[in-house]
Amino acid sequence: MTIACLTFDFDGVAIWMSTFKQVSPTPLSRGEFGAEVGIPRLLEVLERCEVPATFFVPAHTASSYPEQMKRIVAAGHEIGCHGYLHESPVGLPIEEERRLLTQSLEVLEKVTGVRPIGYRSPAWDLSDNTIDLLEEFGLIYDSSLMSNDFNTFYARKNDVLTEERFTHGEQSQVLEFPVAWELDDYPYFQFSPRPLNTGLRLAEDVYKAWSAEFDYAHKVNGVFTLTCHPEIIGRGPRIEMLEKLIKHMQQPGVQFMTMGAAAKHIKSAAL
Ligand SMILES: [Zn+2]
Repeated sequence: MTIACLTFDFDGVAIWMSTFKQVSPTPLSRGEFGAEVGIPRLLEVLERCEVPATFFVPAHTASSYPEQMKRIVAAGHEIGCHGYLHESPVGLPIEEERRLLTQSLEVLEKVTGVRPIGYRSPAWDLSDNTIDLLEEFGLIYDSSLMSNDFNTFYARKNDVLTEERFTHGEQSQVLEFPVAWELDDYPYFQFSPRPLNTGLRLAEDVYKAWSAEFDYAHKVNGVFTLTCHPEIIGRGPRIEMLEKLIKHMQQPGVQFMTMGAAAKHIKSAAL
């Protein structure tokens, strides 16, 4: 069986404030597009196609857009943790990373009524402590690393890297759903002057890339993880392309699952 995980990073204005350090009205309005236009369009597509999805949301976005959060959860989708203000965990002291994770989980639970069981780093990068902290907080999966394409694996802790060699640490209990720039809408579409990303590719070109990636994943009975952002995929031709892709993916032997459901399924199948 092939597992299809559609994931959406609902960054809101947090990514502009934190990651891009741009807080004037126009950059913030790009985040607002995701909340006000992208989310409703996405929810319509997911409902029409009758597929579940996972939304990774910074706590700041959940507090700013509680109505959108309630609609997402009411439609049966999953909410995952995605930082407090879309901060990178890399280089954070462990106490600070623990505090941010504690507060993020509290806010997401307060807004939606559900405690998340999964995490995606806002930077697609982890600190030396992230996996330990995810275990400490009972989070069962992560989706930030790139060492496979269509197979999940258990994230490691305490790797040692020296000039002589790279030594693996021990395997954790955190199931990893690998991500890839090839399967992210950002590099293909998002135009950004600083840092420069030309983006603005045609939706039909991206359909070719993503459907070919999916076809390979299905051939090997893999786990296909797509990462999109409401503010990017939410524009007209792109959201229509996403719907066409989902319909292409709805083949015999393909099961669409939230990442949380997929994590539980894979973990129990391995017992
Ligand atoms: Zn993000």
